[in-house]
Amino acid sequence: MAGIWTFAEYREHMLELLNIGRGLAAKTGMKITTLLCHDREQARDCIQRGADEVLLLPPLAGDQPLDVYIPLIVEEAKKGYPDVILVSATTRGKDMAARIAARLNTGLCSSCTAIRYDESSKIFEMERLAYGGAALQKVVCNARPVMATIPPKTHEPAAPLEERRDLGTVRELSLPPPSALKVIQRKGKEREVKDITEARLVVCVGRGLEKSEDLALARRLADALNAEIACTRPISEEYHWLPEELCIGLSGIQVKPDLYLGLGVSGQVQHVTGIRGAKVIAAVNKDENAPIFKTADLGIVGDLYDVVPKLIEELKK
Ligand SMILES: Cc1cc2nc3c(=O)[nH]c(=O)nc-3n(C[C@H](O)[C@H](O)[C@H](O)COP(=O)(O)OP(=O)(O)OC[C@H]3O[C@@H](n4cnc5c(N)ncnc54)[C@H](O)[C@@H]3O)c2cc1C
Repeated sequence: MAGIWTFAEYREHMLELLNIGRGLAAKTGMKITTLLCHDREQARDCIQRGADEVLLLPPLAGDQPLDVYIPLIVEEAKKGYPDVILVSATTRGKDMAARIAARLNTGLCSSCTAIRYDESSKIFEMERLAYGGAALQKVVCNARPVMATIPPKTHEPAAPLEERRDLGTVRELSLPPPSALKVIQRKGKEREVKDITEARLVVCVGRGLEKSEDLALARRLADALNAEIACTRPISEEYHWLPEELCIGLSGIQVKPDLYLGLGVSGQVQHVTGIRGAKVIAAVNKDENAPIFKTADLGIVGDLYDVVPKLIEELKK
């Protein structure tokens, strides 16, 4: 069987793809090929973490966009016949994956949450959320390669394996023709708040909060726990009490803290999608039938205005 190819702009996303690749390789016996942007040291690291071959994409001039690599990747794929191509679902990754899939005349499962290989049918089955997270869609692609974009930070990074230290090959690819597009300026997105996707403890406020001044109460609890504040979409998008970077869920960020504590959060599926990676989910809600209690490991049925001060008091002790 040909192989599993991975492509990501950033190292940490590449390591996640390698982890998925390793799982598939163990089932299929396929080799893993990693497409890497011109870094020999990283190439050795990828090999130690599971890649059998690294195809080094040549460095680009500063005014060249990443999609210059598209014809190069397509050309290599036409020669190498990969069975699977996994691309990290960054904005540029998604754009490139769609264009590569079109040129290879195959399908693309975007924002794929899981990919499995069924040994009896020899089919790769993928999953993705549909209808705003209300349904799970299963996707099968009859064409080859099977292509999927994988949302970053949804898988563990592949760990290095000592026994792989001297394995694998690295091949340098030649420079592709320049793009007609030129990059005039590169500017980082300005953030109002710090990134909380890696926070260990998260206190999330929902519409159970009556007014913006009451955020102070949630902040006191967050301080007592040494946690970060986050929110549901209505809090950031409708009320504008907190910036959108703190909205957890389908249209916001995914978090995977040790503890997620929801205050006045109903737990609709679009929100819960963003907290599935949390180790412990706890919730305070005055409605015992609130859907959050179906997901929560720990729940307090009660008015947050009674419960939160008591929690703060206990934490201070
Ligand atoms: C395409 C799409 C994408 C979406 N993406 C997201 C997303 O990324 N993130 C997101 O969060 N939402 C998202 N939503 C919205 C989502 O469906 C819910 O509407 C939203 O999560 C509800 O927010 P909430 O829990 O704060 O509010 P509500 O659903 O109004 O819940 C408030 C809860 O507070 C409880 N409560 C009220 N007063 C108190 C009190 N005093 N003490 C304790 N509990 C109290 C109530 O019982 C209730 O359960 C999306 C929707 C769509 C259609």
